[in-house]
This record gives sequence, C-alpha cells and structure tokens, in this order.
Amino acid sequence: MSLNYKVKSNYKIVVFGHKGLIGSAIVKELKKRNYKKIIIIPKKKLDLLNQIKVKNFFKKIKPDIVIIAAARVGGIYANTNYPFNFLFENMVIQNNIISSSIIFSCKKIIFLGSSCIYPKLWNKPFREKDLNLANLEKTNEPYAIAKISGLKLCEAYNKQYNKKLPKFITIIPPNLFGPNDNYETKNSHVLAALLRKFYLAKKYNLKKVEVWGTGKPKREFLYSEDAASIIIDIMETSEKNIFKYTKGEYSHINIGLGIDYKISEIVKKIKKISKFKGKVFYNKKYPDGVKRKLLNISLLKQISPRSLNKFKNINKKFDKDLKKEYERITIKTLKKFEKNSTYNLPF
Ligand code: NDP
Repeated sequence: MSLNYKVKSNYKIVVFGHKGLIGSAIVKELKKRNYKKIIIIPKKKLDLLNQIKVKNFFKKIKPDIVIIAAARVGGIYANTNYPFNFLFENMVIQNNIISSSIIFSCKKIIFLGSSCIYPKLWNKPFREKDLNLANLEKTNEPYAIAKISGLKLCEAYNKQYNKKLPKFITIIPPNLFGPNDNYETKNSHVLAALLRKFYLAKKYNLKKVEVWGTGKPKREFLYSEDAASIIIDIMETSEKNIFKYTKGEYSHINIGLGIDYKISEIVKKIKKISKFKGKVFYNKKYPDGVKRKLLNISLLKQISPRSLNKFKNINKKFDKDLKKEYERITIKTLKKFEKNSTYNLPF
C-alpha cells in the first residue's frame, strides 16, 4: 500500500467512546462525509479495560482506521480525588487498543490526547515540541502522564516500525464543549459546570452562583462538532503530508482556533445568556489550575489549511455555540447525570 493512500469511503472505521462528547461528534461528522462502515460498540458489550475482549473484537472486525475517543475523563474534582482511576484506566484502554491495532494491521490510529500534557508554566502558545515531562499541573498529573504515554507509544511505533511516518497520530484539542458533554456535579469540566450552575440558579431563582477559583485563568474552548471536523480532516491527510512538516520528530498535532478567554469573561457571557440577575461569588478556596493553556496551531495550519479556513468570525461563533449549548440544557438532561460516576477499583 502506498504511504500516500487516500482514506476510502468503504474503510471500516471504529470509533471507541461514541457516546461521549467528542466520540459522538466524530460519528456525526463521519456520517456527514458519507463514510459507509462506521463501527461503534457500547461499553456494556466491550469494556476496553479487558484486553482479551478487545483483541477478539479486532479479530472479528479487522478495522482499517481506529479513533480512540474512549477514556476516563473528568474535571478538577474527579482528577484530584481519583488519580488511580485516571492513570490506570487510560493507560490500559489505550494500550489494549493500540496493541490490537498493530496485531490486526490497522492502517491508521487517531488517538485523542489533551492539552494538560504541556507544562503548567505558560509563556506563549504551546507548540508540539514544548512537550516536557517536568512541571505538569499537579491536579491532573496522573491523567496527563497516561495521555503522554499513549502519545509516546504512537510516536515510538511510527519511529521504529513505520519509517517515522505518522501512521498513529495523537490529536491535542483544547477544552471541548457541546452535545453529550458531562454535566455531573463533581465530574464536569469548567464550561459544563458553569452552564449547569447558571441554568439551575435561574430556574430556581437562587441569589448567588459560586464559581471555583479566582476567575483569572484563561482557557481555550472548541465546539465538539468543530473539533470533530478538524479531526476528520487530519484523518484524511496523508502520512507524507504530515511528515513534510514534523520531519518524523513527533506525531502529535494541536488543534484549536487560537483564542482563549478568562474564566470571568465566560462567566459574564453565561450570566447574560441565562438572564440570571443574582450575584457571582468567586470561591478562592478552590485551586485555579494552570494560568493559561492556549495551543499553538501553526502545524495544523500547515498540514490542513482547510481545517481553519472554514471558520469565520470566531468570537461570534463561540457566543452562538455557547448559547446553543445553554439552550439544550433541561432538568431532564441534568437528571441523566445525577447518578455520579463510580470510581471502584477497575479489576
Ligand atoms: P466522555 O467522558 O464524554 O466520553 C468518553 C467515552 O469513553 C464514553 O463514551 C465512555 O463510555 C467511554 N469509555 C470510558 N471508559 C470505557 C471503557 N472502559 N470501555 C469502553 N468505553 C469506555 O469524554 P470526552 O468525549 O470528553 O473525551 C474523549 C477524549 O477526548 C479523551 O481522550 C479526552 O482526553 C479527549 N479530550 C477531551 C476534552 C474535553 O474537554 N472533554 C479536551 C481535550 C481532550 P460510557 O459513556 O459508557 O461510560
């Protein structure tokens, strides 16, 4: 097979984590682009922590492309309180999938990483080459280490067995939001947590909304459907084209739109959308996390210019998507998340 092969519409594409925030958006995007053989399997039928079951699944399906959007994911509270689950489960899930992909000659892996792989000290937008194990943010260090190990596994495979060409690619998105986001009280990310708080405060006429931390850190957000569209653009990009820019030194690619916002700015936006008239209280007892995490997207611009050319007026778009997501919330959707995730020993 040529290394410059085109992804064909009848390739078997497995999306792991299809019920989640980014997995569901990826499935939607693949359908939109007319991929004919999109394969999904619920966790009840295939627990990705089970190596033998994963191997049997691959033996039966023999996928051409695998997208790893399944992971143990959570916000600052869950990461701080359940470090073992975040480290162990993520390492096992990715190792099981990556090893089976190799055994059954998968053509391409897209592995979802996270911007928390970069050091906590930020002076300018993180480039792919700024990856550095020192100075990871303590609150999500176990999760970051699992993600770095998945990224390095992909990179090492490409270097050792694929002439440095990026057959296994790690994509690093900023904070995501959109349909199927996790609205659990103790497990959500910052944006979902804020949307939930303002929705409930407005609905039940509360006097005050409490925001964790000082509101000063800045965060970059990407709508899940936009992230999915960029991820599939990269999936469709040839190994040779990516190699032209990375020279095989690394196999991870940052994605995003190049803009970040102060948490307090986001709070103002959501307060306005929700029409909540009460007070906002910043509780400084809670940690802020890293000051900034904005990603450098120069590599993405080179590899896949079409990915960014499709977005016009990014600030307005963010406001519109935020409103769309707020309007999607109902008591029924929030109730779905009342039963908090379990953090039992995973074996
Ligand atoms: P979600 O929690 O929304 O979805 C994760 C999915 O993984 C769920 O469908 C879940 O299934 C599935 N899953 C978890 N454990 C297992 C298991 N043992 N076996 C089978 N399936 C399992 O996560 P996101 O969509 O937010 O994140 C997906 C990826 O994207 C992660 O790798 C994350 O690091 C990355 N990412 C996410 C960001 C964000 O802001 N959300 C930002 C940057 C990166 P079930 O629902 O049945 O439990």
